[in-house]
Amino acid sequence: MILIKHTQLHFRLQIFKVLTEIINGFFRRFLLQIFYMHKLRYFLGTILLLMMSVIVSGWGFLVHRTVAQLAVYQLPKKMRPFFFKNMDYLVKESIRPDLRRNTDPSENPKHFIDAENYGDSALWKMSFYWKDAVRLYSKDSLMKNGYVPYQVMMMKEKLTQAFRDKNKDSILFYATDMGHYIGDANVPLHTSANYDGQLTNQKGLHNLWETIIPEIELDQYQLYNHHEAIYLSNPEEAIWDAVRHGNALLTDIYAQEKELSKTFSDTAKYHTQLRNGKEYKSYSSAFAKAYSARLGSTINQQLLRSSNLIADFWYTSWVDAGKPDLQGQLTSSFDRKDKKELKKECKAYRKNQLIESHFLISKQSEIK
Ligand SMILES: [Zn+2]
Repeated sequence: MILIKHTQLHFRLQIFKVLTEIINGFFRRFLLQIFYMHKLRYFLGTILLLMMSVIVSGWGFLVHRTVAQLAVYQLPKKMRPFFFKNMDYLVKESIRPDLRRNTDPSENPKHFIDAENYGDSALWKMSFYWKDAVRLYSKDSLMKNGYVPYQVMMMKEKLTQAFRDKNKDSILFYATDMGHYIGDANVPLHTSANYDGQLTNQKGLHNLWETIIPEIELDQYQLYNHHEAIYLSNPEEAIWDAVRHGNALLTDIYAQEKELSKTFSDTAKYHTQLRNGKEYKSYSSAFAKAYSARLGSTINQQLLRSSNLIADFWYTSWVDAGKPDLQGQLTSSFDRKDKKELKKECKAYRKNQLIESHFLISKQSEIK
């Protein structure tokens, strides 16, 4: 039942995400054509465009894309040009694993781990290794309750091999996918069976925490934190530690919502939208802002932890592959102009001015 609900929620979110992308890429232009071509449709076109504007927003894409970009700046000099040259791909495709959930039923459990369904203190007791986990918990249970930390390790193996093979497409593919799963592993609500607050009468909490608040607050966030990619001698420990850290934040995440709800009426707390004749209720902006203030820098910190860990895993995979040369054939042309651009962006990054300098790809209008 939980799986069905979980899957349904994810499907709903994902269908919506895909719809958003499609609308952006195609329908918006289509509507604009209608708008300009026919006088009578002025009124209708306006209404439709307004509706689209409400729907068109990041829906979790914003943070996935942001952390992928931040990780690039944290890489050592020998890796940075290759990743910088392919940054557009790394950023834009960072949401691909979420989109895959719509077509691949096996994709879903790769994005989360419902810790309590594996027993008491499972995050401290579970084996770091997939084979042991299958033996101890069964494949069915892992498919049902999620296995994001194992998925990250599987991607790390693939990425290391891709580096060894000096296969540009594979390096980019696995670096991107692994980055996504590391991002998910750092979202506290991806580590619990109460992933949407649905078991504690706080439905919608997932979207509030990972999407609504970052969309409101990102401009105010600190996107630089001195981190430079480090070699992880125990990457399993690092990814499980990330999951444990996120999971430990949950108590406060639920409690603060409960406390704050006492000061909000239902009509002020929720925002109701009508989509395709169905009513959708989500937390209001006013509630989101007040809740975010209560959480302090938690979401910002988790965002930074995500990008730090992505950079560490990229770097570790490269080192484990024997530090292959990424210049030359892999970075076909990294000329003076590219060097200058990279330098400018790194400077903006260190000053936390990526957004105001218009370098943050996730905030650029054409990606939305
Ligand atoms: Zn995901």
